[in-house]
Amino acid sequence: MQADGYGFKDMRKTRLKPISDKTRQRNQIWKLVCLTRMAYITAKYGYLLCEYCGKHGYFEDANSDNPLAVWGHHIDWNRDNTDLSNCMIAHNQCNTHIHDNNLKDVYQECFKGELSEG
Ligand SMILES: [Zn+2]
Repeated sequence: MQADGYGFKDMRKTRLKPISDKTRQRNQIWKLVCLTRMAYITAKYGYLLCEYCGKHGYFEDANSDNPLAVWGHHIDWNRDNTDLSNCMIAHNQCNTHIHDNNLKDVYQECFKGELSEG
């Protein structure tokens, strides 16, 4: 997998602006919250899934560009609210759908979304 070593992913992670300590700390807390929520979902359903569409999701890192990788969506849209109750595990593509459509009525284990790709 040499081609992936210093390909787009690493380029993409290069940031123009340095992350503040506050943001870095917030991201670290959110990562723990996401992992905790993913562990709960996996234990409950037997596999990792998206709480929006209910379909299987892949565990990758927070910056994954795989549409079917899952990570936490801030239910109240406030990135400073890192409470576990504000974390809903969603596919990247479902998260995009939620944000593109300004959906505020989603919640943990709502399973009402449609997976755009079969
Ligand atoms: Zn989904």
